[in-house]
Amino acid sequence: MKFCFCPCCSASLTKKKIQGKLRLVCSSCDFIFFQNSKPCVGGLILRGAKDKEILLTKRAFPPKQGTWDIPGGFLEKGEDPRIGLKREIKEELGVNAEVMDLYDIIADHYGVEKTATLNLFYFVKLLGNPEKPSDDISEFAFFPLHKPPQNIGFQNVKKVLSRLRKE
Ligand SMILES: [Zn+2]
Repeated sequence: MKFCFCPCCSASLTKKKIQGKLRLVCSSCDFIFFQNSKPCVGGLILRGAKDKEILLTKRAFPPKQGTWDIPGGFLEKGEDPRIGLKREIKEELGVNAEVMDLYDIIADHYGVEKTATLNLFYFVKLLGNPEKPSDDISEFAFFPLHKPPQNIGFQNVKKVLSRLRKE
């Protein structure tokens, strides 16, 4: 994403090397625009003992509209990741969830602006049956871990499914 103006004083931003890294800095005040990956959470919802299946959701909107995804989403500012994941699962699947152990953390990017993301994956236990999908997913389904659907949108989802498959 391209930023042109200081969010503090609206003066133009310029590039400047600080401690060896090129940063956007304000031309007027002392603001330095440190940019970081955006944290996202994903819930690994597994069922079955031997041939495990995983719940995936189909994206109703861009980016990657119509592809399969792991339930979850972006954290709000200051939000605890486990609370954010419970919130996302309630929004998408209409069910309360218990967030268990952290499984993996995978860097990726999102959308046409290629926003850097940091995706935290937790095992999740649903406390009830998922209901009808919410408006940002069009459907959900369980897939065998060894045979996931072809059209998976995000690299981070492919990577975490691949790791789960090998274990
Ligand atoms: Zn400024």
